Amino acid sequence: MIIFDGHLDISYFAMEWGQEQTWSVAKLRQLQSTRNLQMAPSSAGIRAGTSVVALPELHTARIATIMSPIYGRVAREGPGNLKGGCRTQQIAYARAQGFIAYHRVLEAQGHIRIIKDATTLDAHTAEWENSDPQKLPIGTIISMECADPIVYPEQVYQWWDDGLRVIGLTHFGVNIYAHGTGVPGPLFPGARPLLKAMEAAGFILDTTHLAEEAFWQALDIFHGPIIASHNNCRAYMRIDRHLTDDQIKALIERDAVIGAVLEAWQLYPDFEVFTTPNTVVSGAEMVRHIDRICQIAGNTRHIAIGTDLAGKEWTPYDFDSIADLPKIIPMLQTRGYSADDIKAILYGNWHRFYRETWSRHSRRA
Ligand SMILES: [Zn+2]
Repeated sequence: MIIFDGHLDISYFAMEWGQEQTWSVAKLRQLQSTRNLQMAPSSAGIRAGTSVVALPELHTARIATIMSPIYGRVAREGPGNLKGGCRTQQIAYARAQGFIAYHRVLEAQGHIRIIKDATTLDAHTAEWENSDPQKLPIGTIISMECADPIVYPEQVYQWWDDGLRVIGLTHFGVNIYAHGTGVPGPLFPGARPLLKAMEAAGFILDTTHLAEEAFWQALDIFHGPIIASHNNCRAYMRIDRHLTDDQIKALIERDAVIGAVLEAWQLYPDFEVFTTPNTVVSGAEMVRHIDRICQIAGNTRHIAIGTDLAGKEWTPYDFDSIADLPKIIPMLQTRGYSADDIKAILYGNWHRFYRETWSRHSRRA
């Protein structure tokens, strides 16, 4: 069975932590253990963990397609904000363009295939289903996590030409366009023209990381296609990073797809990264979140995978690396999901969403 992971930060691991994604997880870990690979915090102040993601392991897990975020946030002082970041939006723009360049060189060398339209996605999926996947590139849809690198609304057209297809307005804390995770609050005035430009250009809005008030405002303003690339259920968590049942219902009404997260700190309410041992959380916890969204929807159409795996220290104990992702198949079977449901959750729902969205867009264009 092939898998579609809706949120995997391959370019972040490479650009911010030096974790070259064409190397194996074993090689990255060996370099980390001998301190040949920097373990220092990224430009956003996020400390690297022991590697769990690299392209060879994606092949092992039969992950045919991923959504890969590019990144560049403007530094902000104040509670809830990440340390570090770029001084200005212009610098954030240049940094995020560097992330695009990393994807381009991986594509030129045959490691990934940047997917920007329905025809390519369908052909790529068929190829993975019908030939030896070890020889095939990983399908990659480029997204942006935090829109700080978009300097003015009309710039979205240039980003579209650069291959970007999905935009999330925020990340942690206060960002240029909206309040994000951990800091309640609304959109900022620049968000409305940006959302309207995104809608006109055909972009997908990723609502993940929007503060709750900003989330509802964004849904009112933006009438294009919507996803939540990496979100779990607030009902089982105490942090605003995750979706209330009302937010889940609103996303379902808009025919969105939600990617369930596999990180331990997003599955276990009191998990502290680098403090809580990862032995307390099993990957089966993610299935509980998947099941809740299916129960709210009354079907399996709206839930998929967005693992967000980043470091061994905050990965469930029964998953050593992304290579173990197929372990969720028996976990879903145990919960009573049929083979067709599991195929939809692991690949089909993201595939359908992107195919339908892009088919509509090309008809409009
Ligand atoms: Zn995120």
